[in-house]
Amino acid sequence: MTTPEHAPALRPREEWLLEVVEAFDVAPRLRRVVFTAAHLDELHYQPGQALVLRMPLPEGGTGRRDYTIRWLDRATQRLAIDFVQHGSAPAAGWARAARAGDTILAAGPRGRTVIAAEADWHLFAADETGMPAVLHMLEAMPAGAPAFAWFEVDGSRNQMLVTTQANATIAWVHRDGARPGPGTLLLDAVAAFVLPPGRGQAYLVAETSNVRALRQHLIGRGMDRSQIRSEGYWRPGRIGGHDHVDD
Ligand SMILES: Cc1cc2nc3c(=O)[nH]c(=O)nc-3n(C[C@H](O)[C@H](O)[C@H](O)COP(=O)(O)OP(=O)(O)OC[C@H]3O[C@@H](n4cnc5c(N)ncnc54)[C@H](O)[C@@H]3O)c2cc1C
Repeated sequence: MTTPEHAPALRPREEWLLEVVEAFDVAPRLRRVVFTAAHLDELHYQPGQALVLRMPLPEGGTGRRDYTIRWLDRATQRLAIDFVQHGSAPAAGWARAARAGDTILAAGPRGRTVIAAEADWHLFAADETGMPAVLHMLEAMPAGAPAFAWFEVDGSRNQMLVTTQANATIAWVHRDGARPGPGTLLLDAVAAFVLPPGRGQAYLVAETSNVRALRQHLIGRGMDRSQIRSEGYWRPGRIGGHDHVDD
């Protein structure tokens, strides 16, 4: 059968009514919620991309919250999201209380923090909010690709298993009880690293001021802005939202 030339092109689906299948802790500060939805096999995304959840708010109505697709299994129509447990805020609390059968609307996928396949090497820096994106990107990288990743977590109990075929060097930096947020842990770790030869690509996904400091540091060391994908995933006092760090 042929399609008439004037037929409108089919637009990819953009909205998903996610239904909770199960929820459990994957680390003390990280709760995984596994969802199902009709047509999830039609969700096409790149590792690192996120969905915008329409999160119920205590005062009524909903607010937008961005959450990374941790994995998608098209065969079983299941998708997982890892929620940082940072307190009693709407999204963190929703994940803590999620039970099988609960539903939430999601839109997407969205986001530009995806692997730049042409790079000679890859540098990742993330806190717990960026960890789902970086872990998924590492899983999808081609065998042998040189990758260097720094993860800032509260302590060793919040470290996750890294599965990758890349030639990856992984480092964990611990806050050891200090509050998450503005600080120099990731910056100090990356500053001590000798950048490899060739054209690299950096992916910085964490608290906004830390991402900005890392970006400026890498620019100062000669990386071009086009070689740095940097997004502020949260910031003290910010409610939901998204900071593109492009300066
Ligand atoms: C593209 C993108 C992808 C993201 N992916 C993930 C993901 O996969 N998993 C994930 O957990 N987060 C992720 N985030 C971050 C998440 O969207 C924010 O942390 C969001 O603000 C949480 O919503 P909330 O309702 O829990 O808190 P909000 O109501 O937004 O904020 C309430 C208070 O909590 C503070 N706060 C928010 N987040 C944190 C935090 N992590 N630590 C400490 N204080 C915080 C805020 O500054 C504010 O003062 C992502 C963000 C973006 C932009």
